[in-house]
Amino acid sequence: MNETERKKDLSDIITTGPPVAGWAAPSKANIIDPIYKPGDIYSYERCTHCGYCRHVCKVYNTSWSETDYAGGRNRIIKALDRKDIKFDSEEIIPSVFRCMLCGNCATVCPVGVDTLAVFQHLRKVVVKKGAVPAKLVIIKNSLKENNNPFLETHADRFNWCDSCDEAEEALRRGKSIFVSDDSLKSEDVKAPKGPATKVGYFVGCTSSYRNKELSTATSQVLNKLGVEFMVFPEERCCGSVLFRTGLEDDALELVKQNYEMVRKSGVEDVIFSCSGCFSTFTLEYSKYANNNLGFNLYHITQYALKIVKEKNLKIRYTKRSKDDPLLITYHDPCHLGRYCGVYEEPRELIRRIEGVKLYEMKHNRSMAWCCGAGGGVKALYGDIAVEVGRDRLTETRACMVRIREDRLKEAMETTAEVLVSSCVFCKNNLFQVANEDNSPIKVMDISQLLNDCEFY
Ligand code: SF4
Ligand code: SF4
Repeated sequence: MNETERKKDLSDIITTGPPVAGWAAPSKANIIDPIYKPGDIYSYERCTHCGYCRHVCKVYNTSWSETDYAGGRNRIIKALDRKDIKFDSEEIIPSVFRCMLCGNCATVCPVGVDTLAVFQHLRKVVVKKGAVPAKLVIIKNSLKENNNPFLETHADRFNWCDSCDEAEEALRRGKSIFVSDDSLKSEDVKAPKGPATKVGYFVGCTSSYRNKELSTATSQVLNKLGVEFMVFPEERCCGSVLFRTGLEDDALELVKQNYEMVRKSGVEDVIFSCSGCFSTFTLEYSKYANNNLGFNLYHITQYALKIVKEKNLKIRYTKRSKDDPLLITYHDPCHLGRYCGVYEEPRELIRRIEGVKLYEMKHNRSMAWCCGAGGGVKALYGDIAVEVGRDRLTETRACMVRIREDRLKEAMETTAEVLVSSCVFCKNNLFQVANEDNSPIKVMDISQLLNDCEFY
């Protein structure tokens, strides 16, 4: 959109009036159909600062800081545009990065501000101007040197396979397909030589290095479903953390390498257990490939449901019975739900399980609260040991704890025994607070739930 079109468009803005009273999120009935332009990085100009998005912003609702909700952040951008305020690297970092990029504000915005596009672009701009949080520099360097954000060596990425027969076999299949030397450059990955395996499992950094219980469960579930799959021996970080934190230029090299790797493998379907990797492939990789990836993307919940339907399988939870079902509630990860629109497949899959009963939390699907870990907030502000003594961090830490506690409290209101999510970040963040609080509610990933099921 050029400057003239943008100005004309702004004249259409509807004045929405005061925010809805009370602390509940505004209902859909209160939301005027937005004149929505997905991806419009200038849509902040449309912001009327109506305050609707305050009610759904979990960061604002814990910090009460005007710069922490979308309307407030939009004010800062406008003020910078008008040069009403000076750009100050130190000052700008918290207001830009203390956002989980959960997208809940975009869901309720009556005038169609694409807050995710705006805030991700803002991060790009401030990072280019040198406002880079110190911890982000460490992550960026680790990705460059190790292909993961954890300072782990690349060679150890598939160590988790050693304790899982199904994964070991998948790795063997992957290695038999690629002829590669020890270099990590994508040009060194030669064309496939082995028999074609049609399904690939993209594991992701966190499940590879930190949560092998998820990668193991996913591998075993695929095996139970009778799916022959491979893992990609040259897999690198998907780049999600870089895209979310304004380092898109650095992410593109990872995108290129992973994309070429998948194409060369010849797989038709790529499966993800991590919602962050899934959304990055769905959005950023698709854009990189001009919406023509050449392979299909499935979250494990979608793929499992597809196989269950195709093979007409029944599912039974082996630890409980139909008469004494496990009571669970499902937490929508932002990256699977609001980012990719996958709301119903996980629920349909869960409802098909005999011995499990699903309860919904009040905030579900597009209105689900974030777990608190998104947008780099956990990575940049979650570790009190690193940034001890800084007032901002103390505030953010308190904010994060409140967010997670609220989500768990809501889950408990459903009388559920288990909160199930389908993203390793949600699982980790919610598991941590459940543990710290000795919460009676258990937290698990959907792959773990499925792994306790039989398919027949
Ligand atoms: S981003 Fe949308 S909902 Fe939030 S204050 Fe601006 S106009 Fe209102
Ligand atoms: S994306 Fe989420 S955390 Fe960020 S301003 Fe919007 S509602 Fe708040």
